[in-house]
Formats: sequence, structure tokens, C-alpha cells
Amino acid sequence: VVATIQPVHSLAAQVMQGVGEPRLLIPAGSSPHSHQLRPSDARALQDADVVFWVGEGLEAFLDGPLQSLAVQARTIELMNAPGVTLLPARTGGAWAPGGDEHEHAHVEQAGRGHGGFDPHIWLDPANAKAMVAAMAGALAELDPANAATYRSNEKATVTRIDLMQADIEALLGPVRGRPFIVLHDAYQYFERAFGLAAAGSITITPDEPASAHRLVELRDAIRERGAVCVFTEAQSGSELARILAEDAGIGIGQLAPEGREALTQSSNAYDGLMKGNAQALRDCLSRAS
Ligand SMILES: [Zn+2]
Repeated sequence: VVATIQPVHSLAAQVMQGVGEPRLLIPAGSSPHSHQLRPSDARALQDADVVFWVGEGLEAFLDGPLQSLAVQARTIELMNAPGVTLLPARTGGAWAPGGDEHEHAHVEQAGRGHGGFDPHIWLDPANAKAMVAAMAGALAELDPANAATYRSNEKATVTRIDLMQADIEALLGPVRGRPFIVLHDAYQYFERAFGLAAAGSITITPDEPASAHRLVELRDAIRERGAVCVFTEAQSGSELARILAEDAGIGIGQLAPEGREALTQSSNAYDGLMKGNAQALRDCLSRAS
């Protein structure tokens, strides 16, 4: 069983508890938007019985390899799983790209718009539960001897997600509606689920540098919307975020939408990722009055 990114891998690990461990394809410190297939990844795909991935809008590099390498695997595109709610990708104005032709071309090339939908689906706990159901269903079909275990693990995982959601709601209640800027537009599902208000994003992918023009646009967006924090990510963007935050005299924090290296225990990583982001939001947004 191969799972692409840390949160998907963590949910798969919970469903497989007592049966086996899935293999993580994209290390937590690496961006799925820009990951490149390594020889060890190719071998993992060749050996896979099942591959859980979000979809071509996120792991664009996998589109070809899934067809050419994972020939014996059942591939489950979680964006298409029953019960997963998709939100249209945000573009224009304070959302990168800032109307620049080249950047638009890049977006289409990066395949972010699989039908124009934002691929960061796992950040909504309701979607995570639908993903878990799809994984348990696929595993139960492929490995009927362990079907009962997958189904009881599914129930336990859903309960755990509900408890996590309640904890995060309590944590974020006091900072609901406070506007902030993010490095890349990954948090729409999290915002909807918990009543948050991101006001703009710096770049389209964490690895793309932002233009001077883009920075001016964001400075205006921070002023107009009264943003109180800029959130960077571990791998990149900290310099840009620092410049923006210092210029506007607002706070700076760090989020991890797709994986956090410090979360080494796979079954706890989904909870850890979600709660870590909630805590970072609460810490920075509550400092602003
Ligand atoms: Zn992303």
C-alpha cells in the first residue's frame, strides 16, 4: 500500500492498524506540488497493490507514472471519493497568481485546476472521514481476509477525527474571523471547517518565488483587509513573509499544510498536523487585538 503525502499516509496507517504499514511516497519535508519521482518511488509504484493519492491537481508528477509503473495497482484518487466536498480554487486579487500571464500559464501547467478545484481536501475533517471510508472500502475489497479489521479501524478513526475537530474548534473559537495571509493557498478547507478568514496568498506553490509586483499587491491586501498575521511554511517563504510582516507591522507564524517532518509516528501524524496548524493560528492571531 502506497500513500502519497503524510496526512493521507497517516489516515491509511490508522485504517491498516494491526494488518500492516503503508509506504509514504513524498517525505513530509517535501512539497507534493514540486516533488520529482525518484528511482525508489518508481520501484514502490511497481510493487504496489493499491496507491492512495489526492489527485492530479496535487501530485501532478504522478499522473504519468501511475499509468506506466503502477500497472498492477488499484489507484484511488481521493478527490473523487464519495462524500468528499470540493471547493473551487481561488484566483485573482489577493490570491496568487496576481493576474500575470506567465503565472496563469504555470497554474494550468501545474494542473492545480483539476476541473478548477482546490486539492487540499484533507484539511476539512469531514473530507478526511470520507477519505477514510474510501480507503477502508478499497482495502476490504482487495484483502477480504482482513475486511473486519479495516472496517473497525475505520470507525475508530472517524471517532478520533470527531474528537480532534472538537479540540480544534475550542482552540480557534477566540480567533475566528481574524484575517491573515498565507504562503500558498492551501487552507480553504480548514477555513471553512473552522470559521477562519485567510485574506490572500503569496505564491501559487511554496517553491515559486513571488514577484515584486505581487508583494506590492499583498501589502495593499494586508492594509485593506486588516490582516494581523502572515504565515510561512517550513521549507520556504520565510524571508518573503518576514519582509511583508515587518513592512506591515503584523505577526508572523508557520503552518504546514501537507506534512510536518517532526511528526514521525504515522498513526498520529494527521492529528498532529491539524492540531499543530490550529495552535500556530491561535498563537499568532490571538496576539493581535
Ligand atoms: Zn499545496
